[in-house]
Amino acid sequence: MKPIDLRSDTVTLPSEAMRQVMANAKVGDDVYGEDPTVNRLEALTAEMTGMDDALFVSSGTQGNLLALLVHCERGDEYIAGQQAHNYKYEGGGAAILGGIQPQPIDFSADGSLDLNKVRAYIKPDDSHYARTKLLSLENTQGGKALPMSYLQQAREFANEQRLGLHLDGARVFNAAIFHRVSVAEITKPFDTASLCLSKGLGAPVGSVLCGRRELINKARRWRKVVGGGMRQAGILAAAGIYALENNLDRLTEDHQNAADLAQGLEKIAAIRVLREENQTNMVFVQVPPGTAEELKAHLKAQQIIIPTGTNLRLVTHLDISGVDIPRIVEAFTRFFVTIQNGC
Ligand SMILES: *Cc1c(COP(=O)(O)O)cnc(C)c1O
Repeated sequence: MKPIDLRSDTVTLPSEAMRQVMANAKVGDDVYGEDPTVNRLEALTAEMTGMDDALFVSSGTQGNLLALLVHCERGDEYIAGQQAHNYKYEGGGAAILGGIQPQPIDFSADGSLDLNKVRAYIKPDDSHYARTKLLSLENTQGGKALPMSYLQQAREFANEQRLGLHLDGARVFNAAIFHRVSVAEITKPFDTASLCLSKGLGAPVGSVLCGRRELINKARRWRKVVGGGMRQAGILAAAGIYALENNLDRLTEDHQNAADLAQGLEKIAAIRVLREENQTNMVFVQVPPGTAEELKAHLKAQQIIIPTGTNLRLVTHLDISGVDIPRIVEAFTRFFVTIQNGC
């Protein structure tokens, strides 16, 4: 039986065609700026995001870290969501390596940061306070695409408050598919935007930080400092180009599969599907306390892998197809029918 891994869209494996492209990539030393495939990926992503320039980096975490390092100096502060990846899930890198302090605030239900709330947290110019320098947003945030009108409001707000504006766009392609707009329409209001090639797009490694020329020049320097200067990295960049050229439009399938999964699971009385949270490739499900471990084991026996816990995030991706959805729904259904009957 084919395994179905719903934990994340990072679990996808490179296809045979992608591996071919990687094996045949023209390469050079990228620290000298001489890797033609890395250069092609950077030009392609700069164009797609409507930015001046782009920088190939090892991971989304590294892209976000470089962005924080270019916007902020020691003693500066960035405002981000309480659950933001670059506040909560990146090991405190900006504080450790940059002396940069986060100011987290709660996300609104739609994944945005309420700009009135943000305004209240901007520190006055006074030696008691850190200097607020950057507003960092996330799109998609918890699988939700930020409203398009909000992006322009955030730009105007950043101008008015003299803040830099960064987008953690790890899944910005999913947001573009959701809104049926080009990626550039989402990224253009930002000074910098990081995006992941190794999530829904299916590349094995790599992210790109895009942005204004002078910021990307600074980021290139910081990338070397944090040990991210890679040599014949074109082998990896080739996978990224392949992913952008072949796996972008098919994200609609992931969204459809997630919607079908949500619809199927909703019929099970014992569990709660958070329908309003399902916009892109994520389905959030609450299972009754005390059933989580057993459910996980039951599914595992059928080669269906889910995260641990009672609040489940189920993610569709390149290695899950439409025909897998009924198999998942059936496996969940059977489990809850069985426990209901007390067997
Ligand atoms: C995955 C992710 C990242 C970066 O992850 P890496 O594993 O370092 O590539 C950044 N932001 C968000 C919102 C993510 O989901």
